[in-house]
Amino acid sequence: MHKKEDAELLPIHRQQTLLEWLKEEGPLKISDISERFGVSEMTVYRDVNQLADANRIIRTPGGITLPPASEQSANQCGYCLRPIQHSYSVQLITVSQAVEQMCCIHCAILRYEDKKEEVSHVICKDFLLQTTLTAASAYFLVHADIDLHCCRPQAIPFSTLDYAERFQKGFGGVICTFDKAADIILHDRQKGCTCSKT
Ligand SMILES: [Zn+2]
Ligand SMILES: [Zn+2]
Repeated sequence: MHKKEDAELLPIHRQQTLLEWLKEEGPLKISDISERFGVSEMTVYRDVNQLADANRIIRTPGGITLPPASEQSANQCGYCLRPIQHSYSVQLITVSQAVEQMCCIHCAILRYEDKKEEVSHVICKDFLLQTTLTAASAYFLVHADIDLHCCRPQAIPFSTLDYAERFQKGFGGVICTFDKAADIILHDRQKGCTCSKT
């Protein structure tokens, strides 16, 4: 079903169709989309990136899904209820493909600790490049001497060790994995958590 017979749809038409499919069917895989449109996965990624940049959709590993339905939950942290700034926002994707938005890594870690077994992926953005990456593959700089004006203690995500190290040269801190960052933040929150929730 929904197989497009047209030889080649314009990107804008593919993007509109994608949004319709997401509404009707829920999360989609990049490989399925490429098959349905009869275009390369690279073309699909180009469409998907444009939609993600406009915050119309959220990228998941290997696929896409719609952002949380209500305006309020899309703009409010699912943990501390602060307003969400898109540059720091983190998405928790549950095993049932539901999406929760957090204001920053700090809240993502606290929320993750609350419901570990329900979380399938944690999606964050590289601090410098603003590219999307999974927390499992990211490097985190903890205790850097920079105020992000969000919750503290904070962990800053980077896509490569090189970026993390260059940033560390200027702002100090410790580079670690998501699990280690979680350990540090959970340990330190007793003395310095600025989250209203705790
Ligand atoms: Zn928060
Ligand atoms: Zn925050």
